[in-house]
Amino acid sequence: MKAHDGIYLDGAWRPALSGEVIDVVDPVDEQVIARVPAAGAEDVDAAVRAARAALPGWAATAPAERAARLSALRDALAARKDEIAETVTAELGAPLAFSQAVHAAVPIAVAGSYADLAARHAFEEKVGNSTVFHEPVGVVAAITPWNYPLHQVVAKVAPALAAGCTVVLKPAEDTPLVAQLFAEVVHDAGVPAGVFNLVTGLGPVAGQALAEHPGVDLVSFTGSTAVGRTIAATAGAAVKKVALELGGKSANVILPSADLAKAVNVGVANVMSNSGQTCSAWTRMLVHRDQYDEAVELARTAAAKYGDRIGPLVNAKQQARVRGYIEKGVAEGARLVAGGAEPPRERGYFVSPTVFADVTPEMTIAQEEIFGPVLSVLRYEDEEDALRIANGTVYGLAGAVWAGDEAEAVAFARRMDTGQVDINGGRFNPLAPFGGYKQSGVGRELGAHGLAEYLQTKSLQF
Ligand code: NAP
Ligand code: MG
Repeated sequence: MKAHDGIYLDGAWRPALSGEVIDVVDPVDEQVIARVPAAGAEDVDAAVRAARAALPGWAATAPAERAARLSALRDALAARKDEIAETVTAELGAPLAFSQAVHAAVPIAVAGSYADLAARHAFEEKVGNSTVFHEPVGVVAAITPWNYPLHQVVAKVAPALAAGCTVVLKPAEDTPLVAQLFAEVVHDAGVPAGVFNLVTGLGPVAGQALAEHPGVDLVSFTGSTAVGRTIAATAGAAVKKVALELGGKSANVILPSADLAKAVNVGVANVMSNSGQTCSAWTRMLVHRDQYDEAVELARTAAAKYGDRIGPLVNAKQQARVRGYIEKGVAEGARLVAGGAEPPRERGYFVSPTVFADVTPEMTIAQEEIFGPVLSVLRYEDEEDALRIANGTVYGLAGAVWAGDEAEAVAFARRMDTGQVDINGGRFNPLAPFGGYKQSGVGRELGAHGLAEYLQTKSLQF
């Protein structure tokens, strides 16, 4: 695949000073498809300097003009949607139809939403004898993962640009190609030099240098809880703002009055989607004991249908990690009803769609984020028991509730310690705030709440 051999710095592609490279691998056939620079600390420093230099001009640019650039950015993404889908398929391994419907379509919608919000947001308000200005936080370090590689970039960069911030992006080492495509799109949208900068590189090198850089005002990170913790500690010590979107272990609660077949089928599809590499996936299905056997059978049948239709995991490390969790599930006494640890193919980082029954709340597979196509089905006695299990992990990112009556589902959802709940299969809303309770994160992305993360207030009294 075509790739830039430079980093996008101050409006142009320039060679990285580090001289190091990253091999980009297609997870379906394990072949190297491209090479990109692995930036070092000096490259990160140059990018932060460019972003700092561009900050006063961009912060002073009228919101209507920032909105116009974002609108051009949305249109440029839309014009290249097929190329976006092909790129994500090549570096992440997602089936092309899924790349088109999700990996390409969602970021276009999110970019459009920030073009609208930048145009409509009240960057100035009156509070009694004060005028409150909503000013950009400053230079943003955006550090993103590989699972929704363009969405996670756009969910940070679009609101940052709408707010008047400037950005240095360090995308995941596994998916740098769609980030390079995004940089081209930003360039073509007429965003001024230095406002957006891209440094491809390794987490512990480029990522860490960026998170620690004194020229950064806000670190916005999506990824593992382990790295998020380190970044938050570093940012805290420097009194920098931090936004974290971390892992999840979300509960899909099927109340006895629900349409069981629908709830189970949608629940299985939710977990298998993107090969289970979704932070908000409903990886724990909670079923009343009277319906348990029927639900397990439905889940087994549904998972079997996914057989060959899901893509691989992103890399060998993730494949090994997920297989390790499946082995652990068996070792801790859960009952395997579909899939298993044996890879379904010799080549590629595939894992079979896997369903565990007889999972109890304290088991590792019911507590830790697996990040693969693995569903745990748990049994509950009554509604209080279901709530205790649903809330019984360190995470709180998403969830689902199914019931015959919407009000019954809503009443349950209100008692869940989690940032998002889909009621009877409610659709994804790109304007709704997304983010975690408890250890799933700090802050919110998307919509007006996502924009607010990149703003700070200044009050003038009269
Ligand atoms: P990760 O290491 O946390 O990666 C996320 C981003 O942080 C990547 O850009 C990564 O760079 C960078 N990074 C890594 N170490 C860093 C450091 N010390 N300082 C600054 N940045 C750093 O996640 P992963 O290793 O790819 O995945 C491991 C697990 O994390 C998954 O199994 C899953 O449980 C979880 N995860 C969650 C999400 C989510 O959406 N919440 C997304 C991805 C993964 P590199 O690409 O070079 O590592
Ligand atoms: Mg990593």
